[in-house]
Amino acid sequence: MSTGLSSLRLISGVGAKGPACFVLQAAGRRFMLDLGEGPPPGKLPELDGVGSLDALILSHGHKDHVGALSLLGKKRGAPPVYATASVAAALPKNLEVRPLPISGSTEVLGITVTTGRNGHAPGGVWLHFAVGGGVLYTGDWSAESILYAYDPPAKPAATALLDCSYGGYDKPIAECWRELAPFVERGPLLLPVPANGRGPEIALEIFRRGFSEIFVDEAMRDALALLATSDRLSLRAGIAEDITRLAAAAKPIDASHPSGIMLAASADGSSSATARLLAAWEHTSEPAIVFTGYVTPGTPAERLVKGGRGKFVRWNVHPRLSDVVGLVQAIKPQTVIPAFCDRAQLPLLAEKLAPARATMEPTIDL
Ligand SMILES: [Zn+2]
Repeated sequence: MSTGLSSLRLISGVGAKGPACFVLQAAGRRFMLDLGEGPPPGKLPELDGVGSLDALILSHGHKDHVGALSLLGKKRGAPPVYATASVAAALPKNLEVRPLPISGSTEVLGITVTTGRNGHAPGGVWLHFAVGGGVLYTGDWSAESILYAYDPPAKPAATALLDCSYGGYDKPIAECWRELAPFVERGPLLLPVPANGRGPEIALEIFRRGFSEIFVDEAMRDALALLATSDRLSLRAGIAEDITRLAAAAKPIDASHPSGIMLAASADGSSSATARLLAAWEHTSEPAIVFTGYVTPGTPAERLVKGGRGKFVRWNVHPRLSDVVGLVQAIKPQTVIPAFCDRAQLPLLAEKLAPARATMEPTIDL
């Protein structure tokens, strides 16, 4: 264990796909960065030995980053939770939530924290801490989204904890569309998606390409309505009008008549509308079913893809290898910690990110 005064502890999320949870210790304070649940569903970070915290700071609202808030409590000092307005709106009401800007700087318990939009989810941000030569935590991020705005981090950071979910994968999002397009053109098609992530983005791409028969579940309908109103700050410039038109055009899914392009949560089919639709359609020939995100072991998504009833076509919502390399060249860290990918990716990433030192050691001295 580190004896340094300033350190970054990798509690969970490095070395294997798993819930995000890190502890930044600096200036006599202990900040937890994200506190997620899964994948796989139900997996929680191991907090034994973490002790009391001064704050929990959230990068975005996805379950693998915020799903374990029940682990906060007296043992952790019931710390305040820092989150952007869009993320805070979906948090349990019993928490003491303090605001984070979606793009800008603020003081968190005496430390300057700079944020920018992460191109990945409504209200999602990367976080830069003015400690130890600069510490950047990207949370999840994407430089390619057609929907969510991305503010590239520019402040130098000696230590960078980076979303490297895709490891050495480097296909552009245009390639994802080329693979998905035949399914969209053929129809009817069910796309199980997260409503607060790539769901609205894929819907927008399809809508912009002239497909007007778009059907959504309640979660997607609500997410589109928020993007057209209170989540607007997370949108790329110039697309608010398209989102408003899409929100108005999308119709409810009718389980008895699969037609057009249907987008429904949850992405892995384990709950919500997708679970109900899969129960109706798993053993029928229509509609086609295409999963576009991480196929979590033990979920209906895995069962359908393995059995051939479902297909997998990735839709990029994390950085490609070339995006990670570009970010590292911009902020010039001495140490990079690749997060959310398997340890087997480390040799390749170390080679591509040199001269920065890439490491997955459990504790990094700052
Ligand atoms: Zn995410």
